[in-house]
Amino acid sequence: MSQLELTPNFEPDELLAFVQSTYGLSGALEALPSERDQNFRLTVDDGRRFVLKVAHGGEAPGVIEAQHQALAQIAESTRVVPSVLTTVDGRPTAMLTSTEGLPHLVRIVSWVEGTPLASAPHAGLALVNDLGRSLAQLDAGLAGFDHPALRRGLDWDLTVGLEVVDRYAPAIADDEHRSQVQGMARRVRRQTWPGLQRARRQVIHGDANDHNVIVHPTEPRVVGLIDFGDMVHSWLVGDVAIAAAYAVLDASEPLDVLAALVAGYHEEMPLRADELDAVYGLMCLRLCVSAVMAAQQAQQRPDDPYLQVSQAPLRRTLPKLLERPDGLGRQAVRDAAAIPWSAPVLAETSRVAQRREAHVGSSLSLGYERPVHLRRGFLQYLFDADGTRLLDAYNNVPHVGHCHPAVVDAAVAQQRRLATNTRYLCDALPAYAEALAATFPEPLSVCFFLNSATEANELALRLARAATGQRDTIVLEAGYHGHTTSLVDCSHYKHAGPGGQGAPDWVGVALLPDLYRGPFRADDPAAADHYAASVSDHVARIDAAGRGVCAFLAETCPSVGGQHELPATYLSQVYAAVRAAGGVCIADEVQTGFGRLGDVFYAFEHHGVVPDIVVLGKPIGNGHPLAAVVTRPEIARAFDNGMEFFSTFGGNTVSCEVGLAVLEVLRTEGLQAHAQAVGAQLLGGLAELAERYPAIGDVRGRGLFLGVELVADREARTPDAARAAAVSNALRRAQILIGTDGPDHNVLKIRPPMPFDKTDAALLLTALDEAMAATRS
Ligand code: PMP
Repeated sequence: MSQLELTPNFEPDELLAFVQSTYGLSGALEALPSERDQNFRLTVDDGRRFVLKVAHGGEAPGVIEAQHQALAQIAESTRVVPSVLTTVDGRPTAMLTSTEGLPHLVRIVSWVEGTPLASAPHAGLALVNDLGRSLAQLDAGLAGFDHPALRRGLDWDLTVGLEVVDRYAPAIADDEHRSQVQGMARRVRRQTWPGLQRARRQVIHGDANDHNVIVHPTEPRVVGLIDFGDMVHSWLVGDVAIAAAYAVLDASEPLDVLAALVAGYHEEMPLRADELDAVYGLMCLRLCVSAVMAAQQAQQRPDDPYLQVSQAPLRRTLPKLLERPDGLGRQAVRDAAAIPWSAPVLAETSRVAQRREAHVGSSLSLGYERPVHLRRGFLQYLFDADGTRLLDAYNNVPHVGHCHPAVVDAAVAQQRRLATNTRYLCDALPAYAEALAATFPEPLSVCFFLNSATEANELALRLARAATGQRDTIVLEAGYHGHTTSLVDCSHYKHAGPGGQGAPDWVGVALLPDLYRGPFRADDPAAADHYAASVSDHVARIDAAGRGVCAFLAETCPSVGGQHELPATYLSQVYAAVRAAGGVCIADEVQTGFGRLGDVFYAFEHHGVVPDIVVLGKPIGNGHPLAAVVTRPEIARAFDNGMEFFSTFGGNTVSCEVGLAVLEVLRTEGLQAHAQAVGAQLLGGLAELAERYPAIGDVRGRGLFLGVELVADREARTPDAARAAAVSNALRRAQILIGTDGPDHNVLKIRPPMPFDKTDAALLLTALDEAMAATRS
């Protein structure tokens, strides 16, 4: 049956009788335009007004159900959507069968009093700006809403827009118009499409055209957004782009209109840089889709004026847009979204800092001379309160990128579905444990889940104690493992630093294998043996005291210690000595796990060893509080001594889905290999800078885990903390974030989110070059 035959065609009398019997209302009908449905204004006898909608026969009932559910959800967050009238027996829809025996869904929704934007006499920038806000409120209300029927192949969905233009463009009879539409679509394919890969997706209205936007009769504000018939799971940014496509029709300055709309939307619901860059192209695409759909439908229904309603202004507007380079449109959107900056923003930043000081403990420190006041993040970028984009070369927690859409979507979806603990059987926990265990060599196969790496290290200590019956633990100088009492005891960086009280008797601190400044250096072929001997000395001391060794706990690449790589044979010697004394080996891979080093997934793989217990945190959840301990089955069994292990949030369903999403993104985006390639470029560039700046004493690390050690005197290797701080602040002014670390605070720490790419690397190298030059004394 053709689309045309499925279009409802009831007589008003028939419908009025139906309304009387089904809704208990009598009144009068007035036909309204519609592309596929049959719509009427229903004025009931007491004067109330409604819209009576008879759905197209091909409409999936699920789509209408989804509309009702969506309207119910957004009614709470926005005042601009219609409400649904129920039948006398309380149902939101009714069924009416045509004389041909075809059933059509019928519903009645409230009439939104006002004027369609298309015929508003006062349509100006203020009104368009309010449309942006209203749409953003609607989209914010739809966030997280989903329905299977809305994941559909709708021709109006912009995610299939280019295919639709390709398919139906031949239906445009006018050669010039057709070639303009095709030319515009080519531009979108080239300039907009590649940037859309990571654009957020959710259910959107999908058709904020100027007939579906109802405005106040005299004031510049939107009072209603109607017709949810094109709701679809699509790019979020589609809604603002679609509204823009109609708002710019016949505008003397289309880009001003677009800017006013985006500014309103963005203020209510910030769009990300990639999404902002797509708005203009998607607006153009919607115009193309509108043109081809009108042509295609005109072939079927040549006499239907509604189908052509936007076509004349569209034909006038398209050439105007084609005259201008795409970049102008993108720039207009970016400018519109830029939050005004300077004095007010600075004042706001200092207010935020004061509020923080008043109500959070003063031992929490802030980085930089002028603190960074952040509003948003996306992949390797952060956005300051003034809208400035900062390149993040420092934060390793957002491993696959700040707010990576796949990870955020996984979290939101599971949070909506079920958030519960490990006392119930849920798919997420075993699925994640299996996936995580698969990243390890045998016999590491048993996982425990926690909320922070501190907790994971705590559990690792308990596991080690259960497995060995001992308590003595050997750690490394300048190490950090967590903030609890026992872990401060195990963290030389804390207990030997300001406010620290030294190591307790059950903790032995071995030498940090620092091949640059330590007692045994890179030029000493026996350096690894000497450092390993420092651990053996502790083993001997414990033995001499009549006790046994519990554990060796160390980062496989000491990070707080200054981004060091352990010498080649060090760990194998240490592990052998510790195990010979009955102890277990705990690898704190919190900083280095998940492919950061490029050539390996975990740092211990470099050393030909397999730890007994591995501790994971930070990058594992991409910013979601997740951590894990992975161990051998015998150790897990020894721990199972009758005392139940339970962490309320550890291993909860949401965290497990997040963890799975991180692993999936790592795999599908090939981020480990990417880290290797970008890291090699950075290392090469840094080595070249070291040749030109004697203050760069050492460059070390691999993949996207790098350290640059700054010294005042290359021969004496005098640490230069002041220069490191100055360089870090200079880079911040150049909109790049790095960190400083090491016992002497003189190591520049480069540890970006993994999507950090070669362009970013080149930018960082240039900026570092300039910062080194500018800080030369
Ligand atoms: N281990 C290492 C190596 C770390 O770097 C950290 C955090 N800096 C921790 C453990 C503790 O992690 P969290 O703050 O998530 O508890």
